[in-house]
Amino acid sequence: MTMIKCYMSLGSNMGDREDNLRKACKLLMDSGKVADLKTSHIYETEPVGYADQQNFYNICISFDTDMDAYELLDLSQGIEQELRRVRLIKNGPRTIDLDILLYGDEKYDTKRLIVPHPRMYERAFVLIPLSELKDMDVEIPTDKSVVKLKEFTF
Ligand code: AMP
Repeated sequence: MTMIKCYMSLGSNMGDREDNLRKACKLLMDSGKVADLKTSHIYETEPVGYADQQNFYNICISFDTDMDAYELLDLSQGIEQELRRVRLIKNGPRTIDLDILLYGDEKYDTKRLIVPHPRMYERAFVLIPLSELKDMDVEIPTDKSVVKLKEFTF
């Protein structure tokens, strides 16, 4: 069976943010289709856009999977629904947000899925935690609104 190495970004800014991240990781593992899951530290990040909301907790994770990219997207969206992501306002508060950053070396550009994630290289809150898990040939931004908070275990 071919296993593909994936990188994802997870964020939460509603309710118990650390617990939301933990539940999302557990649900990914519970699928039985994810192996060797590694996590970055938690970073606390000021929200972009709609400002009247809690700061985000952001992490990046890496894992190996035999799911194809669309199965992974389905699973991620199922987890978002299970954790009852509420999004009444664009860029507003969210229980949990899961973005697929990289799926092996593969590229997708369809209505449902764009990989590599189109905005990942502009986002310090993605690149800083991602750089804990992956050597990258890009400049890692410094950004005062992204603060390394604590180790994350799930
Ligand atoms: P958002 O929650 O704002 O990140 O956007 C969710 C939408 O982005 C969904 O409709 C997905 O189908 C779509 N999407 C496109 N590319 C990706 C990706 N790499 N990871 C997660 N969602 C994606």
